[in-house]
Formats: sequence, C-alpha cells, structure tokens
Amino acid sequence: MPYQPKIGMEIHIQPKTKSKMFCRCPNRFDQTKPNQNICEICVGHPGTLPAINQQAVKAIIKAGLALNCQINRRVHWDRKHYFYPDLPKGYQLTQNNTPLCYQGFLMIEYLDYNQKPQTKKVLINRLHLEEDAGKDLHPENSDYSLIDFNRAGAPLIELVTEPVLQDQEQAAAFCQNLQQIFRYLKISDADMEKGQMRCEVNISLSNNQKSGVKVEVKNINSFRGVKKSIEYEIKRQTGLLEQGKKIKQETRGWDAEKQITISQRSKEQAQDYRYFPEPDLPPINITDGLLAKIKNSIVELPTDKIKRFTKNFGLNQETAKIITQDLTCANFFENTISEIKSWVKTDDRIDSQQTPKVIKLTANYLTTELIRLTQKTLVGFDQIKITPENFAELMIIVYKKQINSSAAQTVLKNMFQTGGDPSQIIKQKNLAIQKDSKELGSVVSKVIQENPQAANDLKAGKQKSLQFLIGQVMAKTQGKADPKTAINIIQKLVK
Ligand SMILES: [Zn+2]
Repeated sequence: MPYQPKIGMEIHIQPKTKSKMFCRCPNRFDQTKPNQNICEICVGHPGTLPAINQQAVKAIIKAGLALNCQINRRVHWDRKHYFYPDLPKGYQLTQNNTPLCYQGFLMIEYLDYNQKPQTKKVLINRLHLEEDAGKDLHPENSDYSLIDFNRAGAPLIELVTEPVLQDQEQAAAFCQNLQQIFRYLKISDADMEKGQMRCEVNISLSNNQKSGVKVEVKNINSFRGVKKSIEYEIKRQTGLLEQGKKIKQETRGWDAEKQITISQRSKEQAQDYRYFPEPDLPPINITDGLLAKIKNSIVELPTDKIKRFTKNFGLNQETAKIITQDLTCANFFENTISEIKSWVKTDDRIDSQQTPKVIKLTANYLTTELIRLTQKTLVGFDQIKITPENFAELMIIVYKKQINSSAAQTVLKNMFQTGGDPSQIIKQKNLAIQKDSKELGSVVSKVIQENPQAANDLKAGKQKSLQFLIGQVMAKTQGKADPKTAINIIQKLVK
C-alpha cells in the first residue's frame, strides 16, 4: 500500500458506580421518564458544591494499573468550557493536565488478513475521569427539541491511545480486549449497544515524505462499526490522495445503515476550551497504601488466564479463548475441574490417569452444549442453576459411557432448567445404559425371534447381520443398551 494508515482511538467507558461523579444521584439513566434522576449539582445550579466520587477514582486506577499505566499521585480537576444545551453548567469537569493514569500499554492478539495470529503492543496515552452530558431528544415532525439530564454528571472514563494502530483488525481487537478487561475488573459492562462503551477513531494516511491529515470518526456503536468505518475511511482517503486532492481535517460520523462516514464539522481551527483548574474541588492525592490495595484487588486478566488454561489443563488456544471470554464462565470451568479432581479421588469408577481426558471432554462440552444453552436462554454463567459439582459428575458419567450422547443432552437440559443432580435425573427418566444381562437378554431373545433370517445368517458367519440385530436392540431400548453386553448376548443366543 502506498499510504500507511495511522490510527488512534478515543474510548469512553461508563464505570458502574453507585452514584454520579460529583453528587449523590444514582448512576442510572435507564429510567423511562426523563429528568427523574437529577439534583442541583448535576444540573449546575449556582452556589452548589460538587464532591468527588471515590468509587470512580478507584475504578479508573484499577483500570490504569491493569493497562500498565503510570499513576499520577496528585491530580486536579479542570473546567473545559463549551456551550451545548445538554451541558447545563457550560463546562465539563475533566482532568486536562493531570490525567489519573498515563503512559500505559496493552498487548493484544488478533488475526491478520491471512487469518494468522499476531500480537501487537498498543500504547496508551492516558486515562482520565470526567463527567458525562445529558441527552438531546429531537421528536420527529416537531419544531422543538427536548433535553433529558438523567445522564448529566455521570462518571466517564476516557481512554486515549497513541496513533499506533495500523488497520481495522488491530483496532477492533484492541476494543474487544479492552471490553473484556473492564468486565473482568467489574468496572463496567462496557456494552457498546447500550452506550456504556463509545469508540471514536482518528485516521491519517501518510506516505514516506509526508505525514497525513487527521480525520476523526464518531458515532460508532459496535465492533463491526469500528472495523467498517476504518476500512471505509482508508479507502476514501486513499481515493482522494490518488486524485491529488487534499484531505480535510474534520470530524465525520459513522452511518451504520449506509456503511459510510459523513462530514459533521471541519476542524481547521482548534476549539478553545479555556481550560482552568476547578476551584471548588480539592486535588486528589493517591497514597501508596491506596495504590497497593487496588493492585491487590486486580484479578488474573484474560491473556494470563488463557496461558494458564492451555498449560495446566492442556486446552488448545481456541478453546481456552472461548472459555475465558467471560470471567464467570472461566470460573465455572475451573471450579468444575477441581470437582472432577475430587471425584476422581473418591470415586472408584474412574482413576486419576483419566483426569486429562475428562478435562478435555468437559472443555468440549462446556464450549458447545452448555454455552449454546446459555446463549439460547440468555442466562449467563453468573445466574446458571447447574453447580460445578453436578456438572463434574455429569462429565464423569458421560466419560464412563453410562449414558449415551442423546441422553446426556436431555440430562444437561434438565439440569440447566432445574439445577438437579444428574444421577437422580438419569434414574427418574430411566436413561442409564442397560448393562444388566438379564434385562438385555429378554430384549435380545425377542429381537432374534422376530428376525429368524438374520439370526440364521449370523450363524452362517455373515457379520453384517450382527450389525442389523444390534440396531434392532438399540431401537427397542431407545439406544440405552450397552453395545458390548448386547453383542455378547446375541452371539451366545445365536450359537
Ligand atoms: Zn445529581
């Protein structure tokens, strides 16, 4: 490619705090009614005093540490002035000069154009805290607009990367990795559709001699949108440059329906926000003690978990990735494994040498059958009724072939709905494989009586007839006959 894309991202994430950034209003704005969740502070009445939400400060430090950032130990707030109807104070409180976290990085893994796995170090410029604005509503066919301040003053984490991303695959992978980390750390659900995570990309194309002109793209609300908007912008800008035209420095919006970016405003003159330090809030001092405490509360992150799962449990990369996608799923898997290990110790049906095989079976079952059930019913692993202990027992039963695969699915479904014990369900529904030769013997004699020709053929040495007779036995027992036992009985009776 004659031009090299340089891509940076600006990502806003809503932390799940109890209250808003500077007042006691609940940090919720999903109310059906507008302007229910407001007070004098968050709608900017004169003479009110803001107070800092400690939970939000701790959350961003946690995120910053997980993203290998330096932490500013003394942080002050700045007023960023601009006029917009959804900003009642006429300024936004933010951290312009002293972001809480700076100079970090995140190692990402992604698939390149040839579907080859690659890693990349994405440099992070900063993470800072600020407050969100309200929402403008423009009713259709009306000559007025409405404002809902429920969201005004809600905390927001802004993360800015250096322009080190080179294509849409890297950018989308970065966003996905980031979302997963915020979920692991329980800072935010970071659901893009719900606006809990909002992405903006800036793209410039440079060639060897000249650095490019930066174009910002806003209104992206899906990972697909991140990919598609970058792909579109690279094509658009390349086209202009090839025609000898100039790129305008501007902000564009992503139109997900038409899959294009549209010019919103030109950025030829940098806006003057007239920043100045907030006089009504004291600076935040981050102590060693607080930092150490937050550091200790950081759980094992997805990339480390994947490494450990592949090493300790013998999973392949892809399976480990699926299981660790969600922390509650990863925990469920790990708890199941430790239950399996204690089953193996106490249950004489199985010995410890078989543990790796049972673990592999469990991983396969979890990533196909169980995840399918959670997706179908929208019940996450945090609400699942199946206990790791019961799931472990089912896996041992399946491994020992005490039920067949269709029965296993029935049992799993039942466990998923009721939280029941697999052995009890198998008993109640009479699903166990029949090994009892007396019981099976009567089924087999009946089959032989009904199929004298096949029995004679078998006697004459036609092995195909054995398959046929087994098939009949399976049909009569709904697949519950133990094939080995059934073959023995057939051969005995036919002799
Ligand atoms: Zn308020």
